[in-house]
Amino acid sequence: MLSAEIIAVGSELLTPTKADTNSLWLTEKLNEIGIEVKLKTVVGDDEARLEETIKDALRRSDVVISTGGLGPTEDDVTRQVSARAVGKELIFREDVLAEISERFRQIKREMPEINKRQAFVIDSAEVLSNPNGSAPGMLFETDGKFFVVLPGPPRELKPMFENYILPKLREKAGEIFVKRKIIRVAGMGESAVDEAIAPIYLQYQNPQTTILFNRSEIEIHLAAQAETESEADRLLEEVAEKIADRLGIAVFTISDQTMEQVIGNLLTEENKTLSIAESCTGGLISERITEVAGASRYFIEGVIAYANEAKIRALNVPKELIEAHGAVSGEVAEAMAKGVRERAKTDFGISVTGVAGPGGGTAEKPVGLVFIGFSNAAETKSIKMNLPGDRYLIRWRASQAALDFLRRKMLKNLTTE
Ligand code: AMP
Ligand code: MG
Repeated sequence: MLSAEIIAVGSELLTPTKADTNSLWLTEKLNEIGIEVKLKTVVGDDEARLEETIKDALRRSDVVISTGGLGPTEDDVTRQVSARAVGKELIFREDVLAEISERFRQIKREMPEINKRQAFVIDSAEVLSNPNGSAPGMLFETDGKFFVVLPGPPRELKPMFENYILPKLREKAGEIFVKRKIIRVAGMGESAVDEAIAPIYLQYQNPQTTILFNRSEIEIHLAAQAETESEADRLLEEVAEKIADRLGIAVFTISDQTMEQVIGNLLTEENKTLSIAESCTGGLISERITEVAGASRYFIEGVIAYANEAKIRALNVPKELIEAHGAVSGEVAEAMAKGVRERAKTDFGISVTGVAGPGGGTAEKPVGLVFIGFSNAAETKSIKMNLPGDRYLIRWRASQAALDFLRRKMLKNLTTE
């Protein structure tokens, strides 16, 4: 497999105001054709640092792509530095100047004298014309390695890369297809997931498996390479299926969906409706549910009942229940879920009540204690969770746990029906 590295040039990219997005885009394109990006560097407009970086890159990588620093101004140094780094002269090309002048004619502007600089290119490099800007790109081949010099503006770089470079790299890489799959898991910790699936993924070099922990879920990333797309897909399917079988109901998607999309699909398929009563999540669950287009098919109402009076007034939670058990209790979570379901006349009601912190915790009811309620016509239940993290994470994890509780209930009901 060919290795690539990307050099993003520009002092602005080292400040918090401007992010290097070119390398992300390039990485995606390279991965698609089976070229692995092993390293990327952001270099300021500094001749010595840039020269060093290009030389190092060409020593260790098969494909080196630089972006930026091709402007006509003094601060843009990529042209002369890249020539120096590969031991070549910059030569003036009349035909390149003609192309640049032509572009200025087209946009009806006088060509400034300094743009002539952009007609200097690395001797014996292939010049890549730029229909969207004045700076041409360059492709220089040395010792079987590709050195690609591209302009910085994304709208100039993208077509240049796709039209000239991608076909050549595809040929150089051979026909390799890389396909990816993301499996998401809720209600299990990272170690438990790893323990369960390591015996499966350790049997495979291909696909490669990585396990990541997000705010509230475990992601299992699979990447398969093969000579054909269908073979890569087949490899992914094989491993994904084994992993999904092993983890069972904890897997909520094998097709890169969010929890709220999964819930939306389940509710739509079953033709069921949902209402939500939230205390410590303050509307977060309803927000997530309504982020999915088409949520109006199944989502009827969300109630944010933060104060006790609101739980009593809006959700019909008995005052005595709160007095007896406290607002953060399984009893109140259940009453909230039932209350919102009856109020909104939905098939399902879910609820959250908890202590998000950082203050307000007690020995009996510590920060992170959250009760999730579920109610349908047949039953009303709650679960208790002790969620780790700061206020933001506790609220996020509570929202995920509530949606996951609903998901599990719906799936169980489906299998027992
Ligand atoms: P330059 O080729 O250095 O003159 O860059 C021209 C413009 O392209 C800059 O002002 C940036 O806005 C943009 N640019 C340069 N490098 C990048 C990058 N790595 N990612 C996104 N935008 C970039
Ligand atoms: Mg620049």
